[in-house]
Amino acid sequence: MSLNDRIKRLTAIDKAHIWHPFTQMKEWVDGDPLIITEARDCFIKDIRGRWYLDGVSSLWVNILGHRKKEIDYAISAQLAKAAHTTLLGLAGETSTELAGRLAALMEKSFGPFLEAHDKGRRLARVFYSDNGSTAVEVGLKMAFQYWLHKGEKGKSLFVSLENGYHGDTIGAVSVGGVQMFHDVFKPLLFETLKVPSPYCYRCPLALKHPGCGLSCTGPLEDIFKTRGHEIAAFVLEPMVQAAGGMIISPPGYLKKVRGLCDRYGILMVADEVATGFGRTGRMFACEHEGVVPDILCLSKGITGGYMPLAVTITNDEIYGAFLGGYGELKTFFHGHSYTGNPLASSAALAVLEVFEKEKVIEGLAPKADLMGKRLELISGHCRAGHAQRLGLMGRIELVADKSLGTPYPWEEKMGWKVALRALEKGLFIRPLGNVIVLMPPLSISLEDLDRMMKIIHSSIREAAGP
Ligand SMILES: *Cc1c(COP(=O)(O)O)cnc(C)c1O
Repeated sequence: MSLNDRIKRLTAIDKAHIWHPFTQMKEWVDGDPLIITEARDCFIKDIRGRWYLDGVSSLWVNILGHRKKEIDYAISAQLAKAAHTTLLGLAGETSTELAGRLAALMEKSFGPFLEAHDKGRRLARVFYSDNGSTAVEVGLKMAFQYWLHKGEKGKSLFVSLENGYHGDTIGAVSVGGVQMFHDVFKPLLFETLKVPSPYCYRCPLALKHPGCGLSCTGPLEDIFKTRGHEIAAFVLEPMVQAAGGMIISPPGYLKKVRGLCDRYGILMVADEVATGFGRTGRMFACEHEGVVPDILCLSKGITGGYMPLAVTITNDEIYGAFLGGYGELKTFFHGHSYTGNPLASSAALAVLEVFEKEKVIEGLAPKADLMGKRLELISGHCRAGHAQRLGLMGRIELVADKSLGTPYPWEEKMGWKVALRALEKGLFIRPLGNVIVLMPPLSISLEDLDRMMKIIHSSIREAAGP
């Protein structure tokens, strides 16, 4: 079959049968899909043989590059032993090894912030699932049931942030705060309490930082004070609210939140699905402020973008509350068909080895510096209202009027216009409304990162005007 016939055939099947995520399909079928056939290092190749820089790390998961030989090898070696066996009633060699490694990693990352008497707060209990949304669902159910077992029946509410994103299942959407994604499902959701997002550029309290005294924690404290006895947990994306617009918290915010949770006896659920595994320059974002969550949700980068896998990690205090006689019904009744999948676990083990062997975290600083320098240049542009980064996670918020910070009307799709220009120049990115998202693979070379930033700069000029 000729290349053109192959393209025609695949395009026809796609348009006839695939319902793409987060996509207006009426628009989609009017265009022609970019069909990816291969990927290597930080690049993806389309069916016509054109290579693109993977500027979104294949939607934030592929942190170490494609066809990473250690991960390729680990998965094929696992495949020669067993592709999948269950954790319901059985243990598995590979998922057991991984849980041990993860617990050691928790100790390395969070141990330094705990005192000897904090034994019950050490993150050492790993619950497996297979995507970020389920990792959050598990966290919510764990927190809720924990309080039941502690005899606190009234603690069933969750507090979360505006602009928060925790996935697309109903529980995750209930604690979500992205209006465009979440509003339509409101009638289906359980009640949650929302507090303002620590979004300094568009401060919800119209205060300017620094010197604002982190007033955005005020509403949180008020809710904790008045309704703390009803609240099971505060759920947040530490340091960066990712899908809500790559919103970076001001220094001190996370630490203050942890303090409030402690003072009012409320669990802290940290959703590090996007920020975990080096993305913010530390292994976990919570480390930036020396904060230890009670429940930690991880997915995305955990397998280097190879296989679906997630973990919800908690401490002995919470885990211990579920122990009892069978008849006491303290069991955590939750699980998934692919819990602890061995292929995914083998990929995750390989990822952790690469992190150590290649000193991935240590290598991030020069890349983050370069991104920062380029962002400074870009922020001189009259349509770049705000540009910021933490580690290799960055944002450029495009505005119609910079002095007033007036957003582009979302219908104008300015972010998409920039992304389209970038694609023509060989860079694949995916904006969030008016925010250009910077999420290159952590393994990107300085040279490719520089190219990415330059393409974005010129694409903004072309799409939004000089
Ligand atoms: C992507 C994401 C999720 C959802 O993960 P899925 O694997 O897409 O279900 C949850 N929380 C955060 C912070 C995320 O970025």
